[in-house]
Amino acid sequence: MQLTDHIRAIPDYPKPGIVFRDITPLLADGAAFKHTVDTLVARYRDQGITKIVGIEARGFIFATALAYALGVGFVPLRKPGKLPRQVVSQRYALEYGEDELQLHADDITATDKVLIIDDLLATGGTVLAAVALVQALGAEIVECSFVITLHDLPGAERLNQAQIPYYTLCEF
Ligand code: AMP
Repeated sequence: MQLTDHIRAIPDYPKPGIVFRDITPLLADGAAFKHTVDTLVARYRDQGITKIVGIEARGFIFATALAYALGVGFVPLRKPGKLPRQVVSQRYALEYGEDELQLHADDITATDKVLIIDDLLATGGTVLAAVALVQALGAEIVECSFVITLHDLPGAERLNQAQIPYYTLCEF
């Protein structure tokens, strides 16, 4: 199955100059979504993973399906003000400005082996904030996994420099 056939390019969304990679056709196609999750299940089934961290919001979709299939915990990484208990926070740079991600401080412990999942890797700012949060709680990061990588942006190289294993299902 060619996953890229199920991802639509939306020019100038959400602002001029950005080509938004829309995964909703992939989600709406039962065979394509199942293939995506099954590919991740096959890759991660025997790696001793104990927690899957999904990045808000589209990362949740793949992370929860995979966590269910592997029978391991799902941990949401959220924008500020969404999690009700004690959090750890990490700010990160956007193309213009800054954003922040938060994680419940007791959702991950130093004994966990963690897989981090998002829908798309671009500059890497988002996933490196996720990496910093998981590392701050002392856990091991098995891999950071994406449905899509934009290969003309430095995300994969930044993960490589940080010596964090990385995997993508497709590239544009
Ligand atoms: P970055 O932090 O630059 O690696 O951006 C990754 C995050 O922004 C992911 O959570 C993506 O969902 C979102 N994102 C960035 N660029 C795009 C794009 N061209 N199409 C869809 N989502 C994107």
